[in-house]
Amino acid sequence: MAAVTRTPLIAGNWKMNLDHLQSIAFVQKLSWTLSDARHDFGDVEVAVFPPFTDLRSVQTLVNGDDLPVRFGGQDVSAHDEGAYTGEISGAFLAALDCRYVIVGHSERRQYHGESDEDIAAKVSAAHRHGLVPVVCVGETAEDLEQHGPSAVPVAQLRVALGGARKGSEVVVAYEPVWAIGSGQAATSEQAQQVCQALRAVVAEVLGDEAAAATRILYGGSVKAANIAGFMREADIDGALVGGASLQLEEFASIARYQKHVGT
Ligand code: PEP
Repeated sequence: MAAVTRTPLIAGNWKMNLDHLQSIAFVQKLSWTLSDARHDFGDVEVAVFPPFTDLRSVQTLVNGDDLPVRFGGQDVSAHDEGAYTGEISGAFLAALDCRYVIVGHSERRQYHGESDEDIAAKVSAAHRHGLVPVVCVGETAEDLEQHGPSAVPVAQLRVALGGARKGSEVVVAYEPVWAIGSGQAATSEQAQQVCQALRAVVAEVLGDEAAAATRILYGGSVKAANIAGFMREADIDGALVGGASLQLEEFASIARYQKHVGT
């Protein structure tokens, strides 16, 4: 596979936490903390995924103060407009300057019954509107026991990427369901094994060039104390962080993992 540099991405999924006022304070402090620490955002990209109702406030702050933090939505409708009560169009996210959108998070799969086909349709919607989908895949504890770590995420990604437009950017997030919010992260070796298999799926569906350029994140109980181990792996290009992304100092420290690589 061609050698390319992939800019690491540290992404915070806030889930249903922080209202629009809290989001402004958080993003402002996060930017100050990282800027004070001389964080190079070109070297390690930082993005937050606030609830939909926060996005306008975050956009106004980021654009108004020219902050280097990126942001995106936590989900997107497969439809562009119309009678879909409660859904959010990719057009609306794009109009708010979102760069990214999470699709297929395990909580959407589990609590909202989203299938791999639904997720493929959302990937397609994201690309129609110029958004970069962060496609989440991962096995449950039962899947792990029955099929090992790679089989389920590989199958999920193969279907989800069916919705991708060739030449448009995708980010993949490997999030073992058993590791999410449990405090029990995967080992970096296991995460690397799965991320390598996921990169092969990107190559199969979108081609070698896309596979070499695509960032693959690990997610599941990431914290400042374990991020460096994941980032040392060849096929792990960042992290999707849930709980720890709500703790300002902890999240900033995760973004600054280069400072504690080797510790
Ligand atoms: C997540 O929900 O995407 C996640 C990775 O959560 P946590 O970091 O809390 O395990």
